[in-house]
Amino acid sequence: RGGTAEREVPFAKPGSLTRVYAVASGKGGVGKSSVTVNLAAAMAADGLKVGVVDADIYGHSVPRMLGADGKPTQVENMIMPPSANGVKVISIGMFTPGNAPVVWRGPMLHRALQQFLADVYWGDLDVLLLDLPPGTGDIAISVAQLVPNAEILVVTTPQQAAAEVAERAGSIAVQTHQKIVGVVENMSGMPCPHCDEMVDVFGTGGGQRVAEGLTKTTGANVPVLGSIPIDVRLREGGDEGKPVVLTDPDSPAGSALRSIAGKL
Ligand code: ADP
Repeated sequence: RGGTAEREVPFAKPGSLTRVYAVASGKGGVGKSSVTVNLAAAMAADGLKVGVVDADIYGHSVPRMLGADGKPTQVENMIMPPSANGVKVISIGMFTPGNAPVVWRGPMLHRALQQFLADVYWGDLDVLLLDLPPGTGDIAISVAQLVPNAEILVVTTPQQAAAEVAERAGSIAVQTHQKIVGVVENMSGMPCPHCDEMVDVFGTGGGQRVAEGLTKTTGANVPVLGSIPIDVRLREGGDEGKPVVLTDPDSPAGSALRSIAGKL
């Protein structure tokens, strides 16, 4: 909308009733997007009005995981987001041809996020989830500026090395004065298909370590909201656009995710 003034972000207005969660991680590949999509689907299944902004601009994958293959449409000067599994979703991938890469610098990212938040017609949402890129980059800073009331949800694996990086990503909250709602540990062991004994593929204790570290650095209590095991059904659900919380809600990963959604 060249030349016109930027619209206000409705979620940042005082008195907004929408809870905004920015889902962050230190590294890529820890399951941040899978967690975002499943939490969104679980909350929508519970009757909440839910939206997801795929703010992982370079690594966008939310629409596929959510099964959202519709395109946004324009009504007057607002963008109508497609929805899937009861969740409204917007992603940069909906505006790039084919699988073209996004080659942008910081200011463009900020502008895209601004538009996703202010120019998309979200309606009255109960919850908005933002799937952030891994790490502490431009987007995390833009989120803090555009929606200072967004609370941060940190996703980590149990691995100590990964936890260290996740803790760093979460501690950005000190500088931006944001609240950290909690830590989710993903890929917390895998039941052996032969004997059912848990195999700690990525070690143990990462979630607890991040929560304790962030409690110390922020001075506020940061809880571990739950641990999600490695589960083939979760991965398959992501590939097929059918979140495991809906297709197999009582599977180990499905029930862990639903319990976390209930705490938000
Ligand atoms: P990130 O957003 O952190 O980059 P993704 O959500 O894209 O991570 O997950 C990376 C890959 O790992 C995906 O293929 C996803 O399906 C798989 N995955 C994530 N969590 C689990 C889990 N608990 N069990 C099995 N596969 C998982």
